[in-house]
Amino acid sequence: MGHHFCLIEGDGIGPEVVESAVKVLEAAKVNIKWERLIVGEAAIKKYGTPLPESMLALIRKHKIALKGPVTTPVGSGFSSVNVALRKEFNLYSNFRPVKSLPGVKTRFDNIDLYIVRENTEGLYSGIEHTVTAGVVESIKIVTKEASTRIAEFAFKTAVAQKRKKVTVIHKANIMKLSDGLFLECARKVAKKYPKIKIDDMIVDNASMQLVMNPWQFDVLLLENLYGDIVSDLAAGLVGGLGLVAGANLGKREAIFEPVHGSAPLIAGKNKANPSATITAAIMMLRHVGENKAANKIEKALFKVFKSGKGFTEDLGGRASTQTMTKNIIASL
Ligand code: ATP
Repeated sequence: MGHHFCLIEGDGIGPEVVESAVKVLEAAKVNIKWERLIVGEAAIKKYGTPLPESMLALIRKHKIALKGPVTTPVGSGFSSVNVALRKEFNLYSNFRPVKSLPGVKTRFDNIDLYIVRENTEGLYSGIEHTVTAGVVESIKIVTKEASTRIAEFAFKTAVAQKRKKVTVIHKANIMKLSDGLFLECARKVAKKYPKIKIDDMIVDNASMQLVMNPWQFDVLLLENLYGDIVSDLAAGLVGGLGLVAGANLGKREAIFEPVHGSAPLIAGKNKANPSATITAAIMMLRHVGENKAANKIEKALFKVFKSGKGFTEDLGGRASTQTMTKNIIASL
């Protein structure tokens, strides 16, 4: 039986990398019918809003989406479509595996981390206002409910993936109440999982430790903003943003996407690395039980990496997005 999923191309390099993933899925003969959604700038032009209700209805109906990056204007303009989607469908877990890839040379070998990021609140609550001219206030929301459910997800993932330790990353020395609550909830949840060790680290130290000795970490549990920043840092350990993907998981819906943004400087130039989006597609396949197809595509992707040839510019090569896609398809 075939699948019916939503596809969000996004903008910037989005359409190029999403097209690449779609081609690879087609070549691997995964039976997927795509419902193509328009969001962001393109949706404003067509529907007058960045996230039309008709698009949300399609995600509600099909439950699963593969998504490219959607640009969020800096400083002004419409608020983030990415954040709005996570809130709308209560996609509270952002799960980002960060692993060294065969053939991709970086400063670090044998990196194998799971990043679990709270996806619905913290400073991403988007509650900001001007108090008086020259003074703005941005409110960080932390709830017991959201902190507990993300901690549950982290520990459950640790058990399922045969991991040994969850490190809670926080700044509870300064934000004693908000980050304090996040940490307290994680410690409470940890009591139910005696086989998984829990420790914690202040986010600035954790950033340094990740660069000095990333092997000391296993599963990292972070609130929203730290998760965003630290997962980009972690992507750097294994070769950069062109390689790492994430799953946004809720109770019903799930959206799979590359960690990277829309990279406007290389957009439309056939230069973007499609690997992160292909990896997002692999995660999506595993989520729906298409393990055989997922393994096949992953094997083909790794074969291209191992060949050391046909890398895009971010990996020190000269191949285009399309050439890399062709190489992956040829390796299937
Ligand atoms: P956002 O705020 O939306 O996360 P960002 O400002 O972090 O976006 P990105 O768009 O993710 O920025 O890009 C950061 C850098 O990484 C840029 O130099 C970009 O060229 C590079 N980059 C990101 N994704 C890719 C990719 N798929 N292939 C090649 N280079 C990429």
